Amino acid sequence: MSDVTVIGLGEMGSALARAFLAAGKSVVVWNRTPAKAAPLVDLGAVHASTVSDAVAASPVLVVCLSDYAATTGVLSGDGVAEGLGGRLIVQLTSGTPHQARALESWVAAHGAHYLDGAIAAWPRQIGGPDAGILIVGSEALFTVAEPLLKLLAGGLTYTGANIGHAKALFGAALAYFAAHWIGFSHGAAICEAEGLDVGMFGEMMAGMSPSFAQDLRHMGRAIAEDRFDKPEATLKTVSADVARLVELSHDLKIGAAFPSFAAGIFRRAVDAGFSAEEPCAIVKVLRRV
Ligand code: NAP
Repeated sequence: MSDVTVIGLGEMGSALARAFLAAGKSVVVWNRTPAKAAPLVDLGAVHASTVSDAVAASPVLVVCLSDYAATTGVLSGDGVAEGLGGRLIVQLTSGTPHQARALESWVAAHGAHYLDGAIAAWPRQIGGPDAGILIVGSEALFTVAEPLLKLLAGGLTYTGANIGHAKALFGAALAYFAAHWIGFSHGAAICEAEGLDVGMFGEMMAGMSPSFAQDLRHMGRAIAEDRFDKPEATLKTVSADVARLVELSHDLKIGAAFPSFAAGIFRRAVDAGFSAEEPCAIVKVLRRV
């Protein structure tokens, strides 16, 4: 048998397959659009023309498709589920904790083993020390799979037995990055409107980034311990600053969607009586439906 099968050869799946090949593993690949297998075959992979062949080829199946619906569709295709018995499926497709739990049950019902994972890396980082992958599921299964999965990411981390937790942590990080991308881009729009160099703005923010790490740790502890009573800047002050961003955006004739949304959240926290607390006390309104 081959060492590993990679199912899904988009940007990320191809990077995963390349990393296994670079480490000298025997790799079988399958993709809905077969042409995407060609560059990997050139590197030594074997192309399986059917999913059933791909499943039969290796004890470990690493899956990286667009979403869980695609995964379920592929694994429940003609004759595929019958071949899953005894296989270890490592699902690295993005999704939700609920989807991970449902897929684990489905996989178990077909006699296969399951680990779920979340990739915190760009495809170009896969196989290197900077790539992060969180893996959850049975620790015994992880121990068996670790030497193989370690080839994908220097930052491979086992995050516990709860099968939903990789996707939960990925969602939590994505929530942070959503605001990071939007916030930086709104700042860039401000710079453009004022004739400032956006590249210089990027450098300025990068220079501040060590303090972001401190701030992240501080917020994590404050929220975990429900301790918001020693602000260096109060939620009220920050709320007024963010509200001013709306005015600034109108003055510069740029969109105000992001600052209006952010100001609304801070306003709700002020109205709820958290003015004198830490800015991250907004979590108390964000928790509410
Ligand atoms: P992508 O380039 O769009 O590739 C998507 C893959 O899913 C392709 O292999 C595609 O097949 C396949 N697919 C989609 N729908 C399918 C279906 N119904 N049946 C069978 N195959 C189907 O996406 P990607 O960037 O590789 O991302 C893959 C996963 O990795 C996603 O869950 C993504 O969130 C996650 N991820 C990506 C990154 C990144 O930087 N790219 C980072 C972290 C996590 P075809 O080639 O036939 O279309």
